[in-house]
Amino acid sequence: MPICRRRLRAGLLCLLLLAASAPASAWNAAGHRLTAAIAWREMGASTRAAVGRLLAAHPDHARWIARAREGDADYAAFLAAATWADDIKRDKRFHDDDEAATAGLAGFPDMARHRRWHHADHRLDDGRRTGNGELDSRLPRLMRTVGQRRAPMPERSYALPWLIHLVADAHQPLHVASRHNDAGDSDDGGNGLWVETPHHPRLREMTLHAYWDDLPGPPWLRGERLEAAATALRRAAPAGGRAGEVATDAAGWIAESRELARSVAYADLDGEAPVIDEHYHERALRTTKARIGLAGQRLARLLETLLGGDDVSRETGR
Ligand SMILES: [Zn+2]
Repeated sequence: MPICRRRLRAGLLCLLLLAASAPASAWNAAGHRLTAAIAWREMGASTRAAVGRLLAAHPDHARWIARAREGDADYAAFLAAATWADDIKRDKRFHDDDEAATAGLAGFPDMARHRRWHHADHRLDDGRRTGNGELDSRLPRLMRTVGQRRAPMPERSYALPWLIHLVADAHQPLHVASRHNDAGDSDDGGNGLWVETPHHPRLREMTLHAYWDDLPGPPWLRGERLEAAATALRRAAPAGGRAGEVATDAAGWIAESRELARSVAYADLDGEAPVIDEHYHERALRTTKARIGLAGQRLARLLETLLGGDDVSRETGR
């Protein structure tokens, strides 16, 4: 748990903030749904169909589509799958990595919450690996599993929601870098750094990590507002990323995020409880929008690469 480093005006507020800022929670649900909504618009019909088939084989598929009363069930499942890796943090069927294992259920290779998969730890000053985050090693493994057309369906359908989720996490600067103090203590991607946030719509004080997680929009963003926001983000997103990048370049996305952690997220934040001023806030919002647009485009391209033509090859027997 992050530590309240400052004396807050009310203990209750502190508790609420702690609850709202569990370490390494990553983009909030809005960030993950927006990334998925953009990716869905970018994917071709055969990739959407292949994604839909894999997600339909996931044990939680019925839960995902239960909320969607109308519309495309494959799209509804895709949006819900994007937040599944965070949803299981509050799901009693699953257990934390350091807890006794909960009962195994059909279709799940294990019932662990795998909190370490959401982040990678790199020192802000010299980029060295530190901590126990597994994001950088998990992404390539999940890509391999999803892309292996001969692998057992349960393995692929379990891996796909993780992959959808972690592509977005890899684009959050504070998911891949931490600042260390002179004694060598990490602030865990800004979870240990409290900031004053006069421009946040709801909270005046929070951790830097929670502030960044919340930038994409309110976590309850769904429906028409989500669709409108995704359309606007996609329209404004810079096309494509780095020249010549390959669709599976997770290390490249993480390196970009690390650089943004240095040049934007931690820039000009000195002392205890620094204030997020208007200039910082606007830059952080701009960066977030660009990262989500890019994550959506890259997720689409990645899934096209891993799954595109899946149904064609099956139908034609090739
Ligand atoms: Zn996450």
